[in-house]
Amino acid sequence: MSDLYTAFVSKLLFPAQERLKRHDTVRLRRLLEESQWWVRARIERLQFERLQALLVHAQAHVPYYRELFGRIGFDPRKIESASDLARLPFLGKADIRANLEALKSDDARDLARFNTGGSSGEPLIFFIGAERVSHDVAAKWRATRWWDVDIGDPEIVVWGSPIELGAQDHIRHWRDGLMRTELLPAFEMSESKLDAFVERIRKRRPKMLFGYPSALSLIARHAVSRGQRMDDLGVKVAFCTSERLYDDQRSTIERIFGCRVANGYGGRDAGFIAHQCPSGGMHLTAEDIVVEIVDPQGKPLPVGETGEIVVTHLATRDFPFIRYRTGDVAALDPAPCACGRGLPLLKDIQGRTTDFVVARDGTVMHGLALIYVVRDLPQVAAFRIVQESLELTRIIVVPAEGYGPEIEDRIRQGMANRLGQGVRIEIETTAEIPPEKSGKYRYVMSHVGAREQPECAT
Ligand SMILES: [Zn+2]
Repeated sequence: MSDLYTAFVSKLLFPAQERLKRHDTVRLRRLLEESQWWVRARIERLQFERLQALLVHAQAHVPYYRELFGRIGFDPRKIESASDLARLPFLGKADIRANLEALKSDDARDLARFNTGGSSGEPLIFFIGAERVSHDVAAKWRATRWWDVDIGDPEIVVWGSPIELGAQDHIRHWRDGLMRTELLPAFEMSESKLDAFVERIRKRRPKMLFGYPSALSLIARHAVSRGQRMDDLGVKVAFCTSERLYDDQRSTIERIFGCRVANGYGGRDAGFIAHQCPSGGMHLTAEDIVVEIVDPQGKPLPVGETGEIVVTHLATRDFPFIRYRTGDVAALDPAPCACGRGLPLLKDIQGRTTDFVVARDGTVMHGLALIYVVRDLPQVAAFRIVQESLELTRIIVVPAEGYGPEIEDRIRQGMANRLGQGVRIEIETTAEIPPEKSGKYRYVMSHVGAREQPECAT
């Protein structure tokens, strides 16, 4: 028993504390909690100073930018405002893929490799340094505390990351004991799983929920269908992220859990971009992230107009994200927020939407269950999954280097494992996957009738 406890402390608790110390998260959060009340001009000045420092550092230490700035004659010491960013080209996923080594700073330490589907279904490998981790965690922490809850409050997380699921025992111990967070895996949403989720939530009596809006609203409606109320647990807030939040999902979650819904927008790749405050404003993490809205030709748009979200993350000296294209669509909101925070606002965010899919045996699964089959394959540059019927699913693939019959076999096998053996998996290759008419990307579409999001919600 004591051995177990020692192992717990030495392998989990102590390293976690060390990591927290080195990441400097507590100090950063305190700074952010001050700067959020600054007037807009002061926040912009801080942002500009940090932007210039990032660009100067990139010129000195990052081969990709040294070469780029030299080629186009860009001198970061001479910029006058954040709008000078427009003189630089965008950083797309293809640029990162082609320059993975040259984008690393020569003084980077402790780079961690990440892998994401991004918003457009193009798998992306990139690196994150310790500086950036602490900034993103601190920004998330600040936004959590806007809602009168804090890290350590009882929490239910509805999530589908296979990394976390793989290490679930560890995560569960660490979170249960210290963070009082419990993870409900969101991949499989069968009736019996949903019954179990409702029971877990009732038992935990969480102060906060965190997860995909599609999954949280599905759980909420399932509870109602069982005649089970959920508004008697003391849930204060449901943090929704990773997907577009539809109005009907918001009202479903708020009504059934008897709580507020707080929308968050960001990603591993682009950072913690914006989060809703209790007064309703989607506040940008403006101290850390410069957001530009651009038209289809790449021209920056004035405040209030809708276009693609392009981010420059100011804590990315180790592996810069400068003018990174998110593929998501939104507008900057010129109105001030009633809460009084000086942080600018984002509105009308049209992030990714993901349909639910249905396995042959009737099991309802979050679309991520299929996404993970494809997105970690470097041989696949982009993809879209279309469930035509219970018997047929089509995968549209933009091949990358190394793509061939072997990869197709792996995709077929992975899909069959999720959807059921005997389901027909048809794979087509194409040169490009266009966004839908609305400009949004949806990389899992199901025609089986388990769709959670209304089609007309744009
Ligand atoms: Zn506000």
